[in-house]
Amino acid sequence: MWLVCCLISTLVACTAQDPQQPPATAKPAPGVGAAGAGDPYYPTDGNGGYDATSYRVEVRYNPQTRRLAGTSTMTAEATQTLQRFNLDLRTLTVGEVEVDAQPARFGHRGSELTITPAKPLAKGSTFTVRVRYGGQPSREAKSGVGQLGWLTKRSGAVYALGEPHSASFWYPVNETPRDPASFELIAHVPEGWTAVSIGRRGKTSSGDGWTTFRWKESTAIPSYLTTLAIDKFDIRQSKLSSGVPVVDAFAPGAEDKKALASRLDEVVRFLSSRFGSYPQKSAGGIYLDVDIPFALETNGRPTYAPWVSLSVIVHEYAHQWFGNSVLLTSWSDICLNECLASYAEWLWAEAEEGADLDTRYQAEVEIASADLWSSKLYDMGRGHEFDGVYDKGALAMHALRAEVGDKTFDKILTEWAAKKRHRNATWPEFERHVERVSGKDLDGFFDAWFRGTEKPAERYLYPGRLSK
Ligand SMILES: [Zn+2]
Repeated sequence: MWLVCCLISTLVACTAQDPQQPPATAKPAPGVGAAGAGDPYYPTDGNGGYDATSYRVEVRYNPQTRRLAGTSTMTAEATQTLQRFNLDLRTLTVGEVEVDAQPARFGHRGSELTITPAKPLAKGSTFTVRVRYGGQPSREAKSGVGQLGWLTKRSGAVYALGEPHSASFWYPVNETPRDPASFELIAHVPEGWTAVSIGRRGKTSSGDGWTTFRWKESTAIPSYLTTLAIDKFDIRQSKLSSGVPVVDAFAPGAEDKKALASRLDEVVRFLSSRFGSYPQKSAGGIYLDVDIPFALETNGRPTYAPWVSLSVIVHEYAHQWFGNSVLLTSWSDICLNECLASYAEWLWAEAEEGADLDTRYQAEVEIASADLWSSKLYDMGRGHEFDGVYDKGALAMHALRAEVGDKTFDKILTEWAAKKRHRNATWPEFERHVERVSGKDLDGFFDAWFRGTEKPAERYLYPGRLSK
């Protein structure tokens, strides 16, 4: 994610509050899947007792009536005996649930859809859950990052976007980065409209005044990286020089972004040279003409607002390694995504635009406000995940590079991306990785920069060549 509010001084406004979250749930009874996946900040996000492997979501959406009708099928493995388990789904009305093709009882309260299969599921068994649902999707009450969820335009166009929440606004899901899964979308929209999503584009077909679009992401990814965008898009297809298929979608009014979009191959080649081979199977971008306050790294096909720049594209593409391939475990690990993606912008500026990063660092440290220093980069507290990770995060990564040296820093990033490719990771694991690769005890450095709420002491602020 790249927040436009990070351009302005009110960093405290960059928060992601979720006022509707109920309190943490108690330990569930035997045979009952937990109603939360264990995130300390969002305890009711996601669910326990199963491991989702794939989602197949089929939706029909009419921009005139603004009504969605969906059928989703989740395939999962039971990680315990399950008499009952939950999925996350907001607002929409559930009509019918089947588990392994047998009707199942269900209850829907708040964002928790509780399902009781006809027969308990044995630990280790693979099962499918089919949910028929519909209604008018909603959005989250306004938060610091803007509205999340199902964003609609007056024209009828819609965009399902948000971090940490978005998927549960339009399909039933285990909404936690701890349970990545593959994703397939079949979307029926009235003729003249186009439905764009992540992954590879499948066949388009039409009949009875409707057009069907198919998209498939075979890599297991967290649900906040899935999306659905329905608009009258101008679609451009091409390939990266590596052969990866590219689909760019330009909403009406965003056609002027085509020149910018054409620089994607250059960006991916640069990032691949720094972080290792491109970890996704598709590429491109969704260019909107609606002024959302963030860009989001929707998998292999980030979503951009009208203020998109090359730097924003570099940032969202860096996430294809850090965030979309190396997956965070808890939202307190967000620096794994954002500090690294923000610093990728610096690396691009240095290599491609001739920026002197030491000078830039010194200048930014000099003007940094107390607000900037007070933001923690790890364990920052719910609602404060995005406060410091962009600006202070990039400074911290530059200080780390000076502390360990350029060569070691490059090795740290490429080895991290390779070791954790398509796996969950935590910030403390990254710290141990840095110490192992550099051979240095960096406890003081990490405490000062990532856990501290004050300007780091001189030796951490100006390490290595920065001390001159
Ligand atoms: Zn980001």
